Amino acid sequence: MPRRSPPLETEPAGGGSVRPRRLRRLASLRDLVAETGLTPRQLVAPLFVGERPSEAPEGLPALGRRDVAGTVREVERLRDRGVRAVLLFGVPRHKDPLGRGAWDPNGPVPRAIRAIKGQLPETTVLADVCLCEYTDHGHCGVVSGGSVDNDATLPLLGRAARTYAEAGADLVAPSAMMDHQVAAVRRALDAGGHPGIGILAYGAKFASSFYGPFREAAQSSPAFGDRRGYQMDGRNPTEALRELRLDAEEGADLLMVKPALPYLDVIAAARVQFDRPIAAYQVSGEYAMIKAAAARGWVDEASAVRESLGAIRRAGATVILSYFASELGPELPGGVG
Ligand SMILES: [Zn+2]
Repeated sequence: MPRRSPPLETEPAGGGSVRPRRLRRLASLRDLVAETGLTPRQLVAPLFVGERPSEAPEGLPALGRRDVAGTVREVERLRDRGVRAVLLFGVPRHKDPLGRGAWDPNGPVPRAIRAIKGQLPETTVLADVCLCEYTDHGHCGVVSGGSVDNDATLPLLGRAARTYAEAGADLVAPSAMMDHQVAAVRRALDAGGHPGIGILAYGAKFASSFYGPFREAAQSSPAFGDRRGYQMDGRNPTEALRELRLDAEEGADLLMVKPALPYLDVIAAARVQFDRPIAAYQVSGEYAMIKAAAARGWVDEASAVRESLGAIRRAGATVILSYFASELGPELPGGVG
């Protein structure tokens, strides 16, 4: 005879009734029992640095480009609002097939790093390490025979990482999704006398439809083909954990999942599996969707931001990279924190 399922728990053993709403009566009480929170110090603001400033795409102010002086002013403004970490992307004046600008010590990123570290040394400065902003074809590595040559790309990524470390970056963030890129960057840093500089690995970076506004801002759209030959297939959560594990074994100090909201399951699984901080990148398309819906009055921006960043935290991210980091006040929207 099949067992009957137990009755719904509406009465505790000692009598009376179960009423979860008792803990939701006051804001202070809700805050008291909140299981997760978010403060500006857990956010990283991505910034675009170029030779000359450029206007942001309409409605997406965080995607504007600044020159070095403007970048330092922005870092100072962020600092005053409690955001103390930035991730720098460079937009060079010249591009070439190898992306040589990526390791030019006088390129916009190394100059910005030196300027920030000179004036605001307490800032945690992360430098993106990839070639797509610097190559004329817009791919993340050296192209030969119509595809990206993994092993020919590795030393170039190492060279770029070393250049940013020499400029004073605290963490480098290889994002090209080349196999063994973390090991190559670690070797280059150690050989260059930078054993103390850490690596934020874009371990699980999915080929995503949410990168569009970024590519406009960084001028890094591929001139041909797409990036599905090296970025991950969104159907594969198990493979994502394998990618993250390989990066951990190669020496990654933090592991990142990108994009964030469409891959919360991967963030949650990574949190359980790995013993190092998990980062998540709320990408430009995620930012743009909220901005666009808010501009039409379809969602309340502050609460939508709070809810989506909260979801990323709840999934298990310790660190969140978000364009909203540039737009939040000292109090996060809604006063979460
Ligand atoms: Zn890239």
